[in-house]
This record gives sequence, C-alpha cells and structure tokens, in this order.
Amino acid sequence: GKGIAVFTSGGDSQGMNSAVRAVVRMGLYVGARVYFIKEGYQGMVDGGDNIVEANWSSVSGIIHKGGTVIGSARCMEFREREGRMRAAKNLIKHGITNLVVIGGDGSLTGANLFRQDWTSLLQLLVKNGEITEEECKANAHLNIVGMVGSIDNDFCGTDMTIGTDSALHRIIEAVDAIAATAYSHQRCFILEVMGRHCGYLALVAALTSEADYVFIPENPPPENWSEKICNKLKQERSMGQRLNIILVAEGAIDQHGQAITAEAVKKVIVDQLGFDTRITVLGHVQRGGSPSAFDRLLGCRMGAEAVLALMEANTATEPCVISLDGNQAVRVPLMGCVLKTQAVARAMKERNWDQAVQMRGRS
Ligand code: ADP
Repeated sequence: GKGIAVFTSGGDSQGMNSAVRAVVRMGLYVGARVYFIKEGYQGMVDGGDNIVEANWSSVSGIIHKGGTVIGSARCMEFREREGRMRAAKNLIKHGITNLVVIGGDGSLTGANLFRQDWTSLLQLLVKNGEITEEECKANAHLNIVGMVGSIDNDFCGTDMTIGTDSALHRIIEAVDAIAATAYSHQRCFILEVMGRHCGYLALVAALTSEADYVFIPENPPPENWSEKICNKLKQERSMGQRLNIILVAEGAIDQHGQAITAEAVKKVIVDQLGFDTRITVLGHVQRGGSPSAFDRLLGCRMGAEAVLALMEANTATEPCVISLDGNQAVRVPLMGCVLKTQAVARAMKERNWDQAVQMRGRS
C-alpha cells in the first residue's frame, strides 16, 4: 500500500490529535502504511526515531487531549535546500510519498515548496549516492494534503480552523469566571485574547459573553475612542450594571496602526472614570485544555477527507487543503488559500482593513 505520513507543525491547537487519529485510522482502513513524523519538519529532517509506523491502537486515547501528542516545532533547516534534502532521504528510506501536514500557512507553504523541489532533490540524492536509481523511480512523486490547525481562525478558504472553537470555549469560561468576581467588587476587567492579525476570537467572545467593548485589528476604533468607551461604560453603570468587560485582541490597533494595549485602555478608564480596573492576559490558556466536540469532529472529518484525497491523487493532482465549507469537508487548492491568506496579512499591514475583511470571506 501507499506510504502516508502525518505531522503537526508550527503553533499547536486543540483538535490536532483528533485529525492525526483520523488520518491514521482512515489510512489503515484503506490499506496504506501510516507513519507519524514527530516534532514537525525537525523530525523529518532529523529522521531516526522521529519517524515511526503507526497502528490502530497507537492513536487510542488521544482525541480528548489538547495540543499535539506527536509534537510540533519550528525548523530553520527545512527552509534550506540542504535540510529538505535530508528530509526527502528520510522519507524515501521509509517509502513515504504522501504527506498530511497539519499546521498554519507557513507549514503549508513549506510543504508546497518541498513538493515543487522533490524531483530535483531526488536527483541530487542519487548523484550523491544517498539513494539508488530504483528508490528514485519508486518515489518519483510526492503528494501533499494540508489541514489548518490554528486557534486564530486566520486562514482563507475555510470557515473554521482546527482549534478555534476550543479556544473560544476557554475564553468564554474565563470571561464568565471573571465576570463573577467583577460583579462582587464592581470592577472593570480588560481581557487580552490571542489574535495578532485576526480579531475573530475577540469579536466572537465579545458577542457571546456580553462584553461592553471590543478592540480588534480589522476595525480600528474612531479617533475619539477613549471618549466613546468612557461614555459607554458610564452609561452601563448608570443603568445599574455592576461590572464591565472589555476584550482586546493582541493585535488591536488604532486608525494610525499603533497598538491599542490593555494597559492603554486601563489608563484611559482609570484616569477618566476612576473605576477599579484590572487586566487579565489569557495567553496560552487559550491553546490548552480539552478540545471541544466541534474541534474533535472537525479533526475527524478533515483527517478522513485528507486520506481520501491522497488515495485519489495522481501525478497531475495539485496539492489541496481540506476546508470546512458550510457543513462539508471539501478540498480547495492549497497554494491559492495560502496566497490569499498572505494577501490579507499584507492588506492589514497597509491598513486596508475593508479589503482584508472582504478577502477573508469564503470563496
Ligand atoms: P505556521 O505553520 O503556524 O504558520 P511557521 O510559519 O512558523 O508556522 O512555519 C512552521 C515551519 O514550517 C517553519 O519552522 C519551517 O520549518 C516551515 N516553513 C515555513 N515557511 C517555510 C518556507 N517558506 N519554506 C520552507 N519551510 C517553511
């Protein structure tokens, strides 16, 4: 059968284990040999114990775990040709010519580059005597399929990325917990949540937790935001509300592209209203904890579809990423999505927020 390897790369997210599990079990079900590559591209470059064959039970009891049990890493060597050559050799020695990469746009870009480079990497390996002509022929084509694991929901081409829903659960639990203590002491709480270029977590958490105000990168507040927020908070208190909740995305900015930090918001509120104001930075708590049912199911469905895509792939098949479209796991062109995601990041940097939001939409 075909040799398939699955690995997780870049930042971790809840639900990655479910995706790994589905790839392994679907792969075995269709008669493939399935391998884990531990520690992302680093494990692929280093080889050895990092590449291990999986069996049905090696993915038992992982679906409920956060993070990724096969490890993830950032790997500088894979960015160089030399590193990719070592990675190619390690794959060929195991007869692996099908890769399932679970990561962000960086990891997917790397996989695409690897595929484009594959033929010339193999020729070099033959020339250097590291693999035989037969090995080169038997492994002539590399197929890749991607899945996006990211809590930020920052990837173009899919409705949801694996991990976003669980991160939202973490944030909502934290806001509810904080709201209880804020109520007791009539406090104002500012929560910083993750999202450098994408305010999805902050926005959805604000909507679903009855927050008073939210700052996101895609929609910088008006110039007089300090006045606006103070008026809003005063109004809430005058109507009998005993607490205030404000969410600030990590990447929140003003009209000039300057960061709006939790500290800056606190200073405004303390100086102008004198409210007892506290800051909570949620940080990596958002990446932790158990994956939600939604993320487990998303991982299952995407993982299974990824294997089907590999089984159907031929030499002319372009790499795809498995995306959620409505309620369907579908295949979309990998590089198209990556390029669009990068274009959105550029538009954000150039402060073309409307354009960025439009581009991020489906299709
Ligand atoms: P993410 O996948 O979450 O966007 P990174 O951008 O850090 O995270 O990418 C993860 C890893 O993918 C990098 O450490 C590197 O090994 C590999 N990678 C990223 N971009 C490239 C690239 N252009 N060429 C080769 N490898 C890359």
